[in-house]
Amino acid sequence: MKLTILGDSSCIPDAGHEAACFVINGKHLVDTGWCAALKMRQYGFDPLNLESIILTHFHQDHYVGLPQLLFYIGLKKRQGPPLLIIGPNQHLERVVRAAVDFLQIDRFPELAVNYRLVPLAAGDRFELPGLRCETFAARHVSGKNQLEQALVYKMTDEASGARLAFTGDTHHHPPIADFVQGVPLLIHDGGHTQPKEAADIAKRAGVGRLVLIHYQQKRGSAILAKARAVFPSTELAQEGVCLEVPPAR
Ligand SMILES: [Zn+2]
Ligand SMILES: [Zn+2]
Repeated sequence: MKLTILGDSSCIPDAGHEAACFVINGKHLVDTGWCAALKMRQYGFDPLNLESIILTHFHQDHYVGLPQLLFYIGLKKRQGPPLLIIGPNQHLERVVRAAVDFLQIDRFPELAVNYRLVPLAAGDRFELPGLRCETFAARHVSGKNQLEQALVYKMTDEASGARLAFTGDTHHHPPIADFVQGVPLLIHDGGHTQPKEAADIAKRAGVGRLVLIHYQQKRGSAILAKARAVFPSTELAQEGVCLEVPPAR
């Protein structure tokens, strides 16, 4: 299993640091950043090959790139089975409909993308071609200090047994350690959770490596030092870097 970081930044991107998003095996995009369509092209992927777009939650930095992706895919006339758009059930339909409305698909029906929504609640499981997926509740708040429906995902490659997990945005939430127990690769929020707390999750879960994402670049070296003091196999996500997950032995 290969996971390529398309963006490592917290909410507001900068040159070379798109907002947090990544692509798995070139086929499954996790969150859209501000401009994942362009970032995919930059790092050798084609949005046309996407089988799914997986959304961790509905804060704008995680979905604002969705209209551009649908525009790209519609212009290039994607064929094949429906594109799966997967995410927490409270706001999935509303956000995708807004993206379609923004593109004025009623006036430009030739741009319509054949998609299917997969609304999820925490604890739901689902299948992607060759991948088994499980979900768990993150602990995240919205701008109004209300709890945001946000999901942690864990994926298992059915052929190789390779496993990985990613938290999306979350504050420190110790139960995540049980959910991600023993995964070789954990992508954990490095902005809302303190680095030593994320490292503590990784340590308690016994993961292979911890990669922190969604952090402020100017704080990067301090974050890394604090996390490594607790869990030495910690890295910072870096835009453009491909992380390989070994097959299970
Ligand atoms: Zn965010
Ligand atoms: Zn968020």
